[in-house]
Amino acid sequence: MAYEALYTRGRPKNFAQLIGQEHIATALTRAISNDRLSHAYLLVGTRGTGKTSTARLLSKAMNCERVIAARESGEPLQPKEIPCNKCASCLSYESSPDNVEFDAASNRSVEDVTRLLSTAYLAPLQSKVKTFIIDEVHMLSFEAVNSILKLIEEPPPNVAFFLATTEFNKVPMTIRSRCQTLNFRLIPRETIAPYLIRLAKRLEVELPEDAAAKIARLAEGSMRDAMTYLDQCYAMADKKISVEDVNNTLGLVSDSDLDEIISAVREKDRAKIATAITHAFRSGLTSVNIAESLITRLRDMEFEILDGRQTGEMRSLDILIDAMRKAVTEMQGSGIPDIILEMALMRLAAPITSTSNFAAPVSQTSSAPVPVVQNTSPDSVAENLDEGKKIFYDTLERFRDNDQFLYAAANNAIVVGWTGEVLTLGFKADFTKKLFEKHEQTLAQGLTETAGREVKIETIVNTKLPPPILDRLPEPDKSNLGKAMDIFNSSEAKKIEENE
Ligand SMILES: [Zn+2]
Repeated sequence: MAYEALYTRGRPKNFAQLIGQEHIATALTRAISNDRLSHAYLLVGTRGTGKTSTARLLSKAMNCERVIAARESGEPLQPKEIPCNKCASCLSYESSPDNVEFDAASNRSVEDVTRLLSTAYLAPLQSKVKTFIIDEVHMLSFEAVNSILKLIEEPPPNVAFFLATTEFNKVPMTIRSRCQTLNFRLIPRETIAPYLIRLAKRLEVELPEDAAAKIARLAEGSMRDAMTYLDQCYAMADKKISVEDVNNTLGLVSDSDLDEIISAVREKDRAKIATAITHAFRSGLTSVNIAESLITRLRDMEFEILDGRQTGEMRSLDILIDAMRKAVTEMQGSGIPDIILEMALMRLAAPITSTSNFAAPVSQTSSAPVPVVQNTSPDSVAENLDEGKKIFYDTLERFRDNDQFLYAAANNAIVVGWTGEVLTLGFKADFTKKLFEKHEQTLAQGLTETAGREVKIETIVNTKLPPPILDRLPEPDKSNLGKAMDIFNSSEAKKIEENE
């Protein structure tokens, strides 16, 4: 027997089943009872939030004999009664020639779409109202948009339009202004998870709360995605779908593996990071998978902090998310994704501790007054410095191609202090500092743009600074050097042109 996908079977049959969009169900129930339906609706929202389902319910309700009778007699209707799903009209809905439905994103020809739309001028064959459901309406051709506009402006009798879109801004203003807009919300996890548990029960399989929560989190507000994920897990499961089953089926790293990586990075402990990554790799997942799972996990942790369910500090999480996002981009198409991931994480740990030792004394001896930092624990200095580094290297990256002299000169610098306004750059020799000073103003301007507030630069010379090459580590191959230098306990490094 062919298995019918959950999201097909799980489609709402009436307005009471429109999960997560109760505001729309209520408004439409009221409009139906009061006979105030519009002939053109624009349904706006992300994928899988119930736009097409709602359009179908409305289309069905407009022709439902029970709904029409109740409206005529003034009898109030409940959302669960709209439509009735029992009358002749409801039962023949799927096969009715009066319900035209198509996806503007599919490759239908202009002629095809025009022909479909032209049938709007013909009277309905069986139903009272002829309905057009058009998905991804923003993808329609110019000609089709014009035909629709004409139809909405001077609607033929007994025709209704349901235009769905994921990109409201791409829908022409002329269409927007002539439709009644329904805004679909992202469905909260707290709504998706219990619904999945109920669905699983119907499938006679146990779905524990933590597994349901994991799927709900992955679905990111889309009920359709949630059901597709549940479907995939169900296909592989026996009597129960555990969190491990969800992880294995959907290719996810376990939370404990992810937490191990995160705490190792927060402790800035390279050895622990290496072990944690090895653990994560043991799951057989790709480094892109792991990096993406880390991003999701970190975002969850941020939400928990915002909700007050967890205590912690957001900036270090932000920095980690940023680093993972960059790593994912770098990994794409690279032959060494594992090393990129490893180095991205190592980079967050190693250089910060090594230079923060320099940071405190340097900023105290610099000539300009330095604002007193409230929390002066070494960790907060490191966090602070971290932000300075991010601004510095992000800015430098922008100069890489269009000002090579500045790029080269600034490359000799190490970020040794950051007050939030003043960035202190350290040079190992006086001549590299002098070389840089020609470009100082231009860089300060760049830093100001990156930071979104005025940034000033101070320079110092300190022969004891570590080599900039170790601090920067912009590419994975260069960053391997950090490890190598540790192993050899070296303080100097010279770049030799690679053959490869
Ligand atoms: Zn009916």
